[in-house]
Amino acid sequence: MNAEIIAVGSELLTPQRVDTNSLWLTDQLNALGVEVTAKTIVGDHRERLAEAVRAACARSELVILTGGLGPTEDDVTRDAVAAALDRTQQFRQDICDAIDQRFRRSNRVMAEINKRQAFVLEGAEALPNPNGTAPGQWVQDGGRAVVLLPGPPNEMQPLFVKECLPRLQRMLPPQVIRTRSYRVALMAESEVDQRIAPVYTKYANPATTILAAAGDIQIHLRARCAAEADAESLLAEVGGQIEALLGDWIYSRNLDPLEVVIGCALRARSQTLSVAESCTGGLLAQRITSVPGASDYFLGGFLTYSNRMKTELLGVPEDLLREHTAVSEPVAEAMARGARLRTGSTYALSVTGIAGPGGATEAIPVGAVFAGLAGPQTCRIRRAHFLGDRDRVRALASQLALDMLRRELAGL
Ligand code: ATP
Ligand code: MG
Repeated sequence: MNAEIIAVGSELLTPQRVDTNSLWLTDQLNALGVEVTAKTIVGDHRERLAEAVRAACARSELVILTGGLGPTEDDVTRDAVAAALDRTQQFRQDICDAIDQRFRRSNRVMAEINKRQAFVLEGAEALPNPNGTAPGQWVQDGGRAVVLLPGPPNEMQPLFVKECLPRLQRMLPPQVIRTRSYRVALMAESEVDQRIAPVYTKYANPATTILAAAGDIQIHLRARCAAEADAESLLAEVGGQIEALLGDWIYSRNLDPLEVVIGCALRARSQTLSVAESCTGGLLAQRITSVPGASDYFLGGFLTYSNRMKTELLGVPEDLLREHTAVSEPVAEAMARGARLRTGSTYALSVTGIAGPGGATEAIPVGAVFAGLAGPQTCRIRRAHFLGDRDRVRALASQLALDMLRRELAGL
């Protein structure tokens, strides 16, 4: 089943207010296996809204409107839907009484204009709204349902859960949804897509979504089937092909970020880690320590921004810095070795680079990053040249260092 959402309210067309109702509704609908195929935001304008409702009804089996059910002249949803579906509205004394009662309970008098909220579309079911005055409405129009919900989230959400979910469940064939996810570090989104598109485009079910952040791509597969076993076997079929194409670029099969993945590996081996950071300014240590229980394996770090601190805290030789400059392979190596030696950790990661926008030299451009990994056997260095602003370069630099350790711990 396809659904459309229409958020009603002129305030939602201003820079001050965001339509969050449709996000919440989309989440609810997706969980039922209903796909949202279009969203519209319309101001408080009867004809424009009626037009949007007509267009949505021509395309979708379920149309959900939120907002504009209030008592004032600018609340036009009831009238607009009535016009779009060519239905009259009927005054319901029982709803009017309920609104009246609600005012009395808070020692207020119901205004005449609130009677507008007691009108229900011809053939519609009124959906009780215990948290507000305007009831929702469910209009069955042939095989299509048009649903009117109040705008305030604290009214809309409980009303949807109590009244709409059971109705939708009865309309939908029984089905289960199973998901599978992967994370990939340091591969460009276009490269990930190029590799796996030949596979996932062949399948409408499971549906594949790719989400990209700096140096971190998530791939989500969602299978919908009548039986759980069928959903799982579809996921295994498509997931297996994606795993084969991405190989050891996949670092997580459960959405754990890199800092969790390396933390689990270090804990399992009873090994420890320290860091020496320059251009990331503590970001690497921040990520590592954002994981609860990091003290089991993380000993600490050095934030050595200046050359003098690199020498004093990590023992990086002055002539090495003079000869190669701070952003260089030998200095990244000396930083990692120094951190490992001075903390006694099993592994030490180092990062040095130019985050920009200034600081580039003839030899070293903005975005150049060296990450070092010192371990019991070896010291390895990776060099990268990242594009983007300062935040992005720093995020990618921390990702580069963590991915080095991830690969080392996985024996790659
Ligand atoms: P009321 O009886 O309170 O007037 P209503 O159904 O007419 O209810 P609106 O007047 O459209 O609803 O919206 C009331 C308030 O609800 C808005 O000021 C806003 O804070 C919130 N709201 C409305 N629509 C949305 C939306 N799509 N997303 C998030 N909040 C919303
Ligand atoms: Mg209103």
